[in-house]
Amino acid sequence: MTQTQAESRELIKKTVQENAAGVQAIVQALYDKPEIGGEEHYAHEIMTAWLEENGFEVARHLVMPTAYLAAYGDPNSGPVIAFPAEYDALPEVGHGCGHNLFGGISMLAAKAMQAVVDALGGQVLVVGTPAEENFGGKIKMTEAGIFDKVDAALMIHAGNKNGLGSASLALNPVRFEFYGKNAHGCKAYEGASALDAAVLAFTSINFQRQFLKRDCYIHGVISQGGTAANVIPAYASLDYYFRAPKMATALAMTADAAKRAEAAAEACGCRVKETVYECPYGETLLNEKLAELLAAEYAELGLTEVEALDFVPRGSTDVGAVSYVCPTIQAYIKIAGEEVVGHSKEMAEATVSPAGHKALEDGATALALVAAKLLHEPEVMQACRAEFEEKKALAAQA
Ligand SMILES: [Zn+2]
Ligand SMILES: [Zn+2]
Repeated sequence: MTQTQAESRELIKKTVQENAAGVQAIVQALYDKPEIGGEEHYAHEIMTAWLEENGFEVARHLVMPTAYLAAYGDPNSGPVIAFPAEYDALPEVGHGCGHNLFGGISMLAAKAMQAVVDALGGQVLVVGTPAEENFGGKIKMTEAGIFDKVDAALMIHAGNKNGLGSASLALNPVRFEFYGKNAHGCKAYEGASALDAAVLAFTSINFQRQFLKRDCYIHGVISQGGTAANVIPAYASLDYYFRAPKMATALAMTADAAKRAEAAAEACGCRVKETVYECPYGETLLNEKLAELLAAEYAELGLTEVEALDFVPRGSTDVGAVSYVCPTIQAYIKIAGEEVVGHSKEMAEATVSPAGHKALEDGATALALVAAKLLHEPEVMQACRAEFEEKKALAAQA
């Protein structure tokens, strides 16, 4: 069967319109029943059921209990395009990061690509990547090799602006635990205060900030500091995030902090233990060619004030792991005004507002149109791959 690119584009737009209401019902259901990272059992169930009903071959509970992989087409017949889907919520604010809409956009884009894959070959995947906010589902899925044969990973996050995506910071989450000896407050000389060691380390690490390079951050809290005023604490802990444009820098910052923590422990007659307590996030490799393709589709759909790729890294995301394995884009689509901030109840409400509905259709259409172009024009796919290889090689040298 042959299909021109113009025909593919028409088919995609038609399929998105025909299926938008069905996917919107899922976006709404996730909004109504938000689940935090690692506990997205309901989301896993309803998303995989819909994908299966819609002709995808689904592997449930893959790698992580709430992760999944839905596939359509034959990977040996052409390129493999992945649409990673997020669906974890946050405590207090539910889907305040809009991952219900993120997941919906990916499902709808994949559905719209079925007819294109039927005609041209290749495979389309929805990769259900849970726990973006806490355990970095994409990192575990990447480590398990899920993205190894993927030619491009395309995704869109909801927000208060339209944008082509931004660099992200590598993040190393480290806990320093201090062990001392309990004693009565009036006989403190019989003990060793783990809290004193923690406070001394906290202060010393504060001094470290002056010496950090640009775009490097240290944030930390005293997560445990004792329980009673008249007991010398035998245990105290500090939880830190060390962030930098490159993981190598974040690790060097961590090593410096560890020396300070050890010195503080020794000064107070305590010992210290260092652990990585959450999943470290690598930085993101941006793909300018993919951004250019998506920008063209955003423009065609009439989306305005689209921010260009932002090379200044700000937050951290598990998308970074995927971006080291295949050409990757995570763009943004506007569902609320700038007064609505991320991780808020207002942002959650926007995912099921008329603007949220429109973003579901526009986002899915734009992603599928980019995917169709990659299938129709192998030289464009090759350009994305070449840029990816070049940036990966450069990052390895840094
Ligand atoms: Zn998010
Ligand atoms: Zn978030």
